[in-house]
Formats: sequence, C-alpha cells, structure tokens
Amino acid sequence: MVQITESVTTLIEQLSRLPGIGKKSAERLAYHLLRVHKSEALALADAIRDVRENVRYCEVCYNLSEGQQCAICLDPKRDPSLLCVVEQPRDLIAIEQTGAYRGQYHVLLGRLAPLEGIGAEQLTVDALLRRVAEGNFREIILATNPTVEGDGTALFLSNQLARFPVELTRPARGLTTGSVLEFTNKEILADAISDRQKL
Ligand SMILES: [Zn+2]
Repeated sequence: MVQITESVTTLIEQLSRLPGIGKKSAERLAYHLLRVHKSEALALADAIRDVRENVRYCEVCYNLSEGQQCAICLDPKRDPSLLCVVEQPRDLIAIEQTGAYRGQYHVLLGRLAPLEGIGAEQLTVDALLRRVAEGNFREIILATNPTVEGDGTALFLSNQLARFPVELTRPARGLTTGSVLEFTNKEILADAISDRQKL
C-alpha cells in the first residue's frame, strides 16, 4: 500500500468534513491543490482565514457582516417598521436579490428541529423578541422555509409574538411546500413576499 504523507492525509481528512464532500472528492481536491500553482492554493487558505477572522454576525439582525452592524441595518433608506424573519443569511440574500423587499431582517441562524435537539435557545429568538419589544415594527413577515420544520418555527414564533401589537404575515403559498427559499426562482419568491398573507 502506498503511503501518503501526513500533511496530505490531514488535508484530505479536513476536506472530507465539508458538507457534500466524500472521501473520494476530498482526495481529488487535495491532489488538485498539490498540482496547481502554490499561490493559487495559498489564496484559498487566505480566503478561509480572512472570512473566519473578519466576518461575524451583525449584532442587530445576525446577518453576516464585516463590522458590528451589517450594511442593511446601517442603511437609513430601509423601512424601519417592517421586519422579515429568515432562517439563514443565504435566505436573506435570496430575498434581497428579488428587490421586492426594503425592510429590516432578523436571521434566526437555523430552525426549530426537535428531533435534532435544536430548540429556541439555539436560535436568535431571544434577540428577536427583545428587538420587537424595543422596536416599532408594524409588520413582521415570518419567512422561514415552507418545510415541516420551517412551518413549525413560524407557528412557534407567531405564538411568541402574539403579545405585541404587530401584524404577523407569512409569504404567499406560491412557494411549493418543501421548497427552500434560497433555491426558489426570483419571480416566484418576489411574488410570495409581495402577496404575503396575514396569520
Ligand atoms: Zn444587520
């Protein structure tokens, strides 16, 4: 059996821990990185280091940010009375790309998943409730994904938020059940946000 060096083994192990990367893909990637120009491989290492050292969660909405607050929270032109709650920063990006929404966001950083042991305390629910209590929101759009867990999370949040004088809505059902916001066609997502329904 051919022995590969310890650093190559470590690289393959690290790569195979990435989502969607099996052992074979990890090996292909590792040998690719050994074949390309050294500067190209090191640029990848630098990009990983940069993103982990410079990117953090916005202290207000938990979107990804390079400063304490993200560009959306700092934008004075966004409607301060409208709040859209999403599961992940990538859902926020999908909604931003439609251009159909100009309010604020709150990123939960996940969804309730009782079977995986993910409860409200693992999400940014407390921060959301504080924001709503202190803020002046007219409407909150619960734009979690139309999946079983996303619907369950929206239901949980609608109960938690019922005590505030704010209108709760959910994107229209143009979104197929089980579809994931980030992969939904832009026009359909824009329609779903525009035609949202009262809860
Ligand atoms: Zn923010």
